[in-house]
Amino acid sequence: MLNKWEGIILKSMPYGESNKIVTLYTREAGKMTAMARGAKKPASRLAAVTQTFTHGFFLLHAGRGMGTLEQGEPVNSMRHIREDLEATAYASFVVELIDRLTEDKGQGPNVFALLQDALHAMNEGYDPEAIALFVEWKMLPVAGIHPVLHQCAHCRATEGEFAFSFQMIGFLCHRCFQIDPYIVRITPTQLRLIRTFFTVPIQQVGSLTLKKATKQFMRKIVRTVYDEQVGVRLKSRAFLDQLERTPQLLPQKEKPQEDGE
Ligand SMILES: [Zn+2]
Repeated sequence: MLNKWEGIILKSMPYGESNKIVTLYTREAGKMTAMARGAKKPASRLAAVTQTFTHGFFLLHAGRGMGTLEQGEPVNSMRHIREDLEATAYASFVVELIDRLTEDKGQGPNVFALLQDALHAMNEGYDPEAIALFVEWKMLPVAGIHPVLHQCAHCRATEGEFAFSFQMIGFLCHRCFQIDPYIVRITPTQLRLIRTFFTVPIQQVGSLTLKKATKQFMRKIVRTVYDEQVGVRLKSRAFLDQLERTPQLLPQKEKPQEDGE
């Protein structure tokens, strides 16, 4: 059966002399794997459209096993992401995370929209680190994690001081602090930020300017949840950790004035 689906290339691997095996996430049918014959040859009409991050319309023969990619027409080749080392690194992390947390032909709710919004925002020059962090928070339910962030995870109170509990995967109010000895105390600003990351659409979060320390705090929480509950190890994360330790690897950029969390 031949289908025309809108999709984004998550992964593209050389196969044999001249072919590629691509993994793409489609709006209509979720994640797919397809053989792109001849796509490794630079002159192939499939060469450009099968590059990682490309957003396009794809003509696919879907079979019981691996499909075949017949044609593709790009909507956006994500040129800025490709040309900017930091954006490439964070976009690689996003596509790897989504690839690892989803099943072939499975359709997570809103995953395509999240992927599309994230890559387009990075391509438009929004802070790729903040966007990637946002995707990590938003993908928690896809990974089967549903943090309790609207009330105390133990007594359901909505008023009081709050802390984050990895044991409860969510907030605990000051009346319940004693049930988890390893709570992370948070300020009301941090509480609002965690809720924002989890519930607000990416367009609004993308335009926030976040301090480095804020991003580090948000990342520490979400990474600990992934490490303890999901246990996925991402190859792209090693490179990001290296960038984090040695920022001089990145070309100096004009940074916007940082304020407001
Ligand atoms: Zn409580």
